[in-house]
Amino acid sequence: NERILLVSRPKGVPTAENFTIDQQPLEEAKEGQLQIQTLYISVDPYMRGRMSEAKSYAASYALNEPVAGGSIGKVLQSNDSRYQEGDIVVGGWGWQRYAVVEADTCRKVDPELAPISTAVGVLGMPGLTAYFGTLRIGNPQPGETLVVSGAGGAVGMLVGQIGKIKGCRVVGISGSEEKNRYLLDELGFDAVINYKDEKPVREALEEACPDGVDIYFDNVGGEISDAVIDLLNTNARIPLCGQISLYNNEKPDIGPRIQPTLLKRTVLLKGFLVGDYAADAAEGLKEMGSWVKEGKIKYRENIVEGFENTPKAFIGLFSGENLGKQLVKVTD
Ligand code: NDP
Repeated sequence: NERILLVSRPKGVPTAENFTIDQQPLEEAKEGQLQIQTLYISVDPYMRGRMSEAKSYAASYALNEPVAGGSIGKVLQSNDSRYQEGDIVVGGWGWQRYAVVEADTCRKVDPELAPISTAVGVLGMPGLTAYFGTLRIGNPQPGETLVVSGAGGAVGMLVGQIGKIKGCRVVGISGSEEKNRYLLDELGFDAVINYKDEKPVREALEEACPDGVDIYFDNVGGEISDAVIDLLNTNARIPLCGQISLYNNEKPDIGPRIQPTLLKRTVLLKGFLVGDYAADAAEGLKEMGSWVKEGKIKYRENIVEGFENTPKAFIGLFSGENLGKQLVKVTD
């Protein structure tokens, strides 16, 4: 069995040298366990946090162990009565070609419902993040302006589409023309901003948001967020989802003091973790599932082929290689 281990903690942007592939004999499944062949691996920005030693909501990865994270696989051997050989499951065994896991840590995926890869995308963790962050914290109302950063990624492109369903004017910020074209032409965003363009984001935003900003779904933090915060309306809401522009910083980044703006405009800023809504996950998946079926929500996947390319796919998240959800396809 091949596994990809974290062998050193990244300093700044992760590199290929932080990882290695090892070989281990494959174990049999014991009582209550499943032996699984990995089909897809999900790479996600939060994994960067777990690669460092800093204390956070999820434990740091141990060195010289396989990198844990969302994966989809086929059951080869089941020692749990709820699962049968051939079942497709999603779990957290991560960067391993095969794994033996406790059945309790997995969830069955119905291949009839949607392509199985969606279990780590639109009908999985990123989908629920977009759903609960937008609806429960953003509370979008018809006619409001919703701005989303990281708009061309897994979570961001779903946030914008949920905003459209709720009748908002939706403005996406991403770092590529290709992503922005897709958001405008395929997903019906009302305006887009490329933060890598020469024009300052602040100026572009002012044009794109003539009525100010009522909801800012923040995936990136840093200077992009500084620019948006300037334009917030009274009683605006900020679902604080991610801060990817800061994840590779070795020292904390000090930006403008935003508190006076938040105070004067009585803004709600709420950080959240998708797990906060675990009790309502089934409800979220059901509604996202029906929106996908009705064609109201489209999803897009960026698939890298080959187990050995998993670190590369992960590292690519920090330079924006992915249009939509980044996945690794291990085998058919
Ligand atoms: P994405 O699919 O959006 O991939 C990351 C994207 O971030 C890249 O494609 C890139 O796009 C953009 N990016 C990378 N570096 C920077 C930078 N320095 N400045 C601005 N943009 C940058 O990932 P996800 O959709 O999975 O996650 C989006 C955010 O949501 C992350 O911050 C993640 O940590 C967070 N998250 C939070 C959860 C929670 O429970 N709170 C759950 C899931 C995700 P571009 O081309 O635009 O630069």
